[in-house]
Amino acid sequence: EAKAEGPARAVVFRPEMRAAVVRRFDLESELRQALRHGQFFLVYQPTFDLEGLGVTGVEALLRWRHPTRGIVPPMEFVPTLEHSGLIVDVGRWVLLEACRQVQQWHAQGYPVSVAVNVSGRQLEGDEIVRDVRAALVRSGLDPRALVVEITETVLMRDPLSIAARLRDLKALGIRVAVDDFGTGYSSMAYLQQFPVDILKIDRSFVTGMVESPEGAALVRALVQLGKALGLVTLAEGIEDELQLYRLRAEHCDAGQGYLFARPLPPDEAVRFMAERAAQLASRGPEAPSGS
Ligand code: C2E
Ligand code: MG
Ligand code: MG
Ligand code: MG
Repeated sequence: EAKAEGPARAVVFRPEMRAAVVRRFDLESELRQALRHGQFFLVYQPTFDLEGLGVTGVEALLRWRHPTRGIVPPMEFVPTLEHSGLIVDVGRWVLLEACRQVQQWHAQGYPVSVAVNVSGRQLEGDEIVRDVRAALVRSGLDPRALVVEITETVLMRDPLSIAARLRDLKALGIRVAVDDFGTGYSSMAYLQQFPVDILKIDRSFVTGMVESPEGAALVRALVQLGKALGLVTLAEGIEDELQLYRLRAEHCDAGQGYLFARPLPPDEAVRFMAERAAQLASRGPEAPSGS
C-alpha cells in the first residue's frame, strides 16, 4: 500500500484507524466467546531450586485455542482482555483452574507451588480477594502453595492501594511475587513497603549477565537486593548453562527457563515432575555436578 503524502494523508489515515478500532472490537467479542466456549487453557512452566535442581513449583500461563488461528500466545490478547475489563472474568477462571490442577498434583504426591499472573486491572477492586479465596476454597488447595505474580510496573502505578490489596491477599495465607523485576522505575526504595515474598528477576537481565561485566554486576545487585529484603530470588528465562552457572555463583535461589523446561500441558508437566524426581532420587543426596 502506497504511503500517504501531503494533504491526502488524513483521508488515507482515517479508514486505517477505523479498521483498527473494528479489529479491537472483533477481538473483544471473540474473547468473550472464547471464555464462554472454553477456548482458554493453561500451560505450566516448572520452576527450579538452583542448588538441588528439583522442581519447586510451576507458573500457570494462559493460552487461547482459537477456532481458526490455532494457539494464540498471551501477548496477542491479554492487552485486549485488560482494556475491555474481561481480564477480571478470565483471571477468575485462571485462578480456579490453576488451583484445581495443582491440588490434583498434590494429591498425586507432587507438593509444588503454583504461580498465577494477575494484571493491574484485577487489583483495582477488591474482587480479587474474593476470587482468590473462592479458588482456594473450591479447589481445596493449601494457600501456602499459591503465589500471585504482579509486575513491578503495576506495583508502582498506585503503590498505596496496591500495598493494601496485597496485605489483604497475604492474609489468606498466599505468597506474592514481583514479576519482571528491574524493568520498571525507581522501585528499589519502594519495594520494602510491599508485602512481597519472591523477586522474579526479568529475563532481560539474565540474558545481559553473560554479555558484559556491567550486565553481570546488575544481576549481582538484584540478587543482593532481594536477599537484603529477605525475599526468595528467582531468575526468569534461563536458556543456557553459562547463565545457570553464573546465577548459581550469585546464590540466586530459583529459576525457570527453556534450559530446564518449556511451558507444558498438564499431562506433560506431571510426567516431567515424575522424571525429575526419579533422577534426583537415583543420584542420591549429592548435589548434581554441573555440566
Ligand atoms: P511472564 O509472567 O513474565 O511469563 C514468562 C514468559 O516468558 C512466558 O511467556 C514464558 O513462556 C516465557 N519464557 C519462559 N522461559 C523462557 C526462556 O527461557 N526464554 C524465553 N524467551 N521466554 C521464556 P508467555 O507464556 O508467552 O507469557 C507472556 C506474558 O503474558 C507473561 O509474562 C504474563 O505477563 C502474561 N500472562 C500469561 N498468562 C497470563 C494470565 O493468566 N494472566 C495475565 N494477566 N497475564 C498472563
Ligand atoms: Mg509471570
Ligand atoms: Mg515474568
Ligand atoms: Mg515477563
